[in-house]
Amino acid sequence: MEPGPVPPLDTHGRPLGVLRLSLTARCNLACPYCLPDDRDPPGLLSQAQRLAVVEAAVALGARRLRLTGGEPLLHPGLEALVAATAPLRARGLREISLTSNGVLLTAERARSLRAAGLDRLTLSLDGASGAAVAMMAGLTGGASAGETVLRKVLAALGHARDAGFDPGAGQLKLNAVIQQGRNEDQLLPLATLARDLGVELRLIEFMDVGNRNGWRPDAVLSATEMVERVNSRWPLNTLGREQHGTASRWSYRDGGGRLGVVASVSQPFCGDCDRLRITADGVAYTCLFSAPAQGHDLRPWLRPGVPQEALREALAGLWRQRGDRWSEERQEAWRQGVPPPVRHAEMAYLGG
Ligand code: SAM
Ligand code: SF4
Repeated sequence: MEPGPVPPLDTHGRPLGVLRLSLTARCNLACPYCLPDDRDPPGLLSQAQRLAVVEAAVALGARRLRLTGGEPLLHPGLEALVAATAPLRARGLREISLTSNGVLLTAERARSLRAAGLDRLTLSLDGASGAAVAMMAGLTGGASAGETVLRKVLAALGHARDAGFDPGAGQLKLNAVIQQGRNEDQLLPLATLARDLGVELRLIEFMDVGNRNGWRPDAVLSATEMVERVNSRWPLNTLGREQHGTASRWSYRDGGGRLGVVASVSQPFCGDCDRLRITADGVAYTCLFSAPAQGHDLRPWLRPGVPQEALREALAGLWRQRGDRWSEERQEAWRQGVPPPVRHAEMAYLGG
């Protein structure tokens, strides 16, 4: 494995480690906790510009690339981008991963993504029944529409496994957002489903990203509560959270695999966050909870004729001045009885 360059540090001493690149802000679902736009912003990056961004981040020391959206499988250039970034392993890139709702993951696409060099795949599913999936995915056709989506995502998990994504090696995972009073009854059915499939389930707290998902603190089911509910059914052992990781992980004592919980709201992990986000139209954000105005437009450095070093310097400068610790600040504001700022960029635009 190539050692790669030494990444820049931000104002809290956090190194750049991960690039999350959004390919589109559009989606084929309309999960009410996310609510994507029905169209992309103007000025989408070209494939050459996307590749330039990834190359610059890797040249600065980013070791992992996550492709996301919106729904990245809507993007026809996805496989080509994976194939074009795979050679960057020789320059220090260690992992290429994808987050998707899985609805469009046919057997053929799973195989071609694997062949192109995709290392890991995380699929998202917030219910284990047709009715719950319909509610969480914002489907208008009721339980039968939900069953269709559920069947497709379950098939997608099978296609991914058949294509070589090994869940036992952490190459295939399942994300589920759990909202208090909405799909909390799906927690144990989803855990059962994931255990049966041998796939690690990641339970995600409902986050206050975006402005139109009606987020309220009492709609968050805390990670502690989620773990307690699973633990009372299948006792768990704690494995902790890896450095720079998002999930605290647990193992089932009966040997039923692993569970992760992403406690971005109740137990912020800003302290070692190493993630840089770049939207489909080339705007860089250094925090998931950023306001729209905190984005930095990279397009001036992506114009023809502008040298690659200039883009690299722009990204390095942006990272060095990064001071974000929004989720921790939200907690501090709550403790002091002060309302935290509420204007956030939208999740499907940022890419999660
Ligand atoms: N469409 C893809 C998917 O759903 O996996 C990729 C993009 S989506 C924005 C990435 C992840 O963010 C998904 O697992 C989704 O469930 C999660 N997500 C979206 N909105 C969220 C919110 N308000 N709170 C917590 N997680 C959220
Ligand atoms: Fe689409 Fe993913 Fe947002 Fe759901 S969470 S609406 S699948 S982008």
